[in-house]
Amino acid sequence: MAARSEELFKRAVKRIPGGVNSPVRAYGAIGETPRFIDRAEGCYIYDVDGSRYIDYIDSWGPMILGHNFPLIREAVIKACEKGLSFGCATEIEVEMAEFICGHIPHVEMIRMVNSGTEAVMSAIRAARGFTGRSKTIKFAGCYHGHSDALLVSAGSGVMTSGIPDSAGVPEGCTKDTMTAVYNDLDSVRKLFEQAPGKVAAVIVEPVAANMGVVLPEKGFLEGLRELCDQNGALLIFDEVITGFRLAFGGAAEYFHVTPDMVTYGKIIGAGMPVGAYGGRKEIMEMVSPSGPVYQAGTLSGNPVAMAAGLTQLKYLHSHPEIYDDLEKKGKKLYGGMEEILKKTGKDYQINHISSLGSLFFTGQKVKDYTSAKTADTNAFAKYFLGMLGSGIHLAPSQFEAMFLSAAHTDQVIEETLDAVEKYFREENKAFRQDELKGHADE
Ligand SMILES: *Cc1c(COP(=O)(O)O)cnc(C)c1O
Repeated sequence: MAARSEELFKRAVKRIPGGVNSPVRAYGAIGETPRFIDRAEGCYIYDVDGSRYIDYIDSWGPMILGHNFPLIREAVIKACEKGLSFGCATEIEVEMAEFICGHIPHVEMIRMVNSGTEAVMSAIRAARGFTGRSKTIKFAGCYHGHSDALLVSAGSGVMTSGIPDSAGVPEGCTKDTMTAVYNDLDSVRKLFEQAPGKVAAVIVEPVAANMGVVLPEKGFLEGLRELCDQNGALLIFDEVITGFRLAFGGAAEYFHVTPDMVTYGKIIGAGMPVGAYGGRKEIMEMVSPSGPVYQAGTLSGNPVAMAAGLTQLKYLHSHPEIYDDLEKKGKKLYGGMEEILKKTGKDYQINHISSLGSLFFTGQKVKDYTSAKTADTNAFAKYFLGMLGSGIHLAPSQFEAMFLSAAHTDQVIEETLDAVEKYFREENKAFRQDELKGHADE
C-alpha cells in the first residue's frame, strides 16, 4: 500500500541521516515507514502511493488557511516572476514590518529571519545585549528550536540547569540556560533567587505545543510578567506556533499579557522558510546595524517568502471570523474526542485550545513536562497507525499538537470523529478478546 514511500525511504536513508531532513518526519516513534508526500490541497494531503489523508499536521502550523491556498500561491508566482532573491532591501519587507507593527501593539520593531530557530536565538541575543546580562530561564518541555543554548530540557524533565540534551553541545553553551517547570511560578522564583541580577530573559511558549499541547494555568503568564518586572528581566513569548493562530495577536492578545519581545515562525511564512523577532523599539534598536548586537541573513526578508507570508497575514487580518471559526471547530473536534473517550471508558486526557489539541494516553492531568511524560507512547503509536489506516494523518509523536485549519470542514471533522470512535471501540473489543483468550489458556 505504501510501496513507493518504502522505496523512497530506502533510498533516503542511504544519503540523508535517518532518511529525513527533520527528525520527527522519520516516524521513529511509530516504527513505520514515513509517507512521502506528493501534493496537498485544503485539508487533504496526498502521498506518492496515491493515498489521500485528512491532514492534521498542516506543515506543523503554517497552513492555517489550508494547503495550497490559491491567493498565496498566486502571490508567490507573481513574486517569482521578478526574481527569487536580491540580497538587497525591498519594498515588501517594509510592508511586512509595517503591517505587523501596525496591528500588534507590543511589536514596535521587527526583524525577519529564516526559521523559528533563528528567531529565538537572535531574540535571546538581543535580550542579552539590551540587559547586559547573560542568563535565560526556559521551561522543561518547551521547544525553542535547535540552537545550542536552548537544547536544554527540550526533552528531559529533570530540573537541573545547563545540561545539554544533545551530543555536540558543549556545556559552555548551555551553562547560562536555567530550566523551570511549566505552570510552576515558584520554580521560576527560585531560579531568579539563584542568580540575582543575572537573568536577561524568561522565554516561554505561552501555550506549550511541543510536549503535546499544555495550557498555561490561570495566572501563570501574568505571574511571569510580574517576576520579570520585579527582576529586571525581559519576557519573551515564543509565538512560533501560537502567533497569528490563537488570535491575530497570538497568545499575547488571547491572554492579555504583554511580553517585551516575541518570536514568530511557521504561519508568518505561510509555508516558506520564515521567522521573525520583534518587540519594544528600545530593545530592537540594539540589533545591528542600528546597535551592537550582531545578527544577519543572506536570505532574510526574501521577497518570495515575504509575498507568501504577507498575503497570509493580510488575509487573516481581514477575515477575523476565521479565529471564531477555529474556536468552534476546535470545540467540535476535541470536545467530540472527549465524548468518545467517555463513551468507550478511557480516562485519557485531551488538552486543547482553539485549533490546537493533543490526546495524551495517560489518566493524569497534563500540566507540565513530567505529567506529559506519563503518556503511554506505545498506545499512541497504535492509535496513530489506526488513524492512518482510516485516512487520517496525525503528527507521528505523542508530544506534538494536532493543527486544525480553516479548510477543515465540519464534515471532515465528523469523519475524523467517526474514525476515532471506531478505533477505540475496536481497541476495546480486541482487549476483551485478549482477556477471553487469556482465560482459555489457563
Ligand atoms: C517550530 C518551533 C520553533 C523552531 O522553528 P523552526 O522553524 O523549526 O526552526 C521554535 N519555537 C517553537 C515554539 C516552535 O514550535
